[in-house]
Amino acid sequence: MSAKLIKGTEIREAILEEITKEVAEIKEKHGVVPGLVTILVGENPASISYVTLKIKTAHRVGFTEIQDSQPVDISEADLLALIDKYNNDDSINGILVQLPLPKHVNEKKVLNAINPDKDVDGFHPVNVGRLMIGGDEVRFPPCTPAGIQEMIVRAGVETSGAEVVVVGRSNIVGKPIANMMLQKGPGANSTVTVVHTRTKDLAAHCQRADILIVAAGVPGLVKPEWIKQGSCVIDVGVNRVGEKPSAKDPNKMVAILKGDVDFDAAKEIAGSITPVPGGVGPMTITMLMRNTLKSLKFKLGIA
Ligand code: NAP
Repeated sequence: MSAKLIKGTEIREAILEEITKEVAEIKEKHGVVPGLVTILVGENPASISYVTLKIKTAHRVGFTEIQDSQPVDISEADLLALIDKYNNDDSINGILVQLPLPKHVNEKKVLNAINPDKDVDGFHPVNVGRLMIGGDEVRFPPCTPAGIQEMIVRAGVETSGAEVVVVGRSNIVGKPIANMMLQKGPGANSTVTVVHTRTKDLAAHCQRADILIVAAGVPGLVKPEWIKQGSCVIDVGVNRVGEKPSAKDPNKMVAILKGDVDFDAAKEIAGSITPVPGGVGPMTITMLMRNTLKSLKFKLGIA
């Protein structure tokens, strides 16, 4: 039997609708809308396309949006001064610094300069600590893990008591999603195992998983025989494995993307599964919007 597809593209639409509605209500009641600033340093084409999508989405949901583009040779001191300016700007609820930054700038120093209450990416050590404590302490869960959890919940998958196995221990996906799934509360209460390159028997751990979350960046790493019958499989991996002519314009080449899971075989065993592309990918910017709205709600005391 074929697994139910958990489509990030559909969930994104539903969440963006909810955010748009809430923004309109807040505007009517409080006379303000969330403000997001995206700081882009240099002209890296991938960064430009990410920032463009973030801006487009922010406009769609009714936020005010500032795109602050800086030259590639901006000094670290000037960048820190810019962050300080937005930290003190009352109309800004979320500050996003598009990574990577040029080599002469200390990325960690810049990210740590963002006011934790405007850190909608959730990477500041204060927000990492808040996430670890859990419950009411959590302010901005990092966007990709927040998207993963949302997909699991909206797919109707039981998390309480579930065996969750996370493949990968990065700071942006593996560690935070593992931490979120083991917290007390709805959409969590799971028993979590995190596996990585030093794990002795990867297959045996994956085979136990009621919910298998894979964020390794290795195409096809997870074999069909590693998947438990009827389980939920979340494939975070986005791997470029080649190029093909674009469906819209056959003269243009586009990347062929593959996940970390052998999708075609896995979908015959899993109960539900995310595709790549169109699975976790669309959720990240969506959750950035939700965090920015949340930031304004905290400020207004209505979160
Ligand atoms: P990362 O920082 O490279 O971390 C990869 C993790 O996977 C590491 O912990 C590594 O273990 C583990 N790993 C790698 N190969 C493995 C193997 N053969 N067996 C077991 N574990 C293995 O990657 P990331 O930033 O978390 O990203 C992971 C993937 O998710 C990438 O494909 C990335 O493009 C994708 N991603 C997608 C989104 C999105 O869709 N929005 C967002 C973020 C990331 P060690 O720690 O032992 O090295």
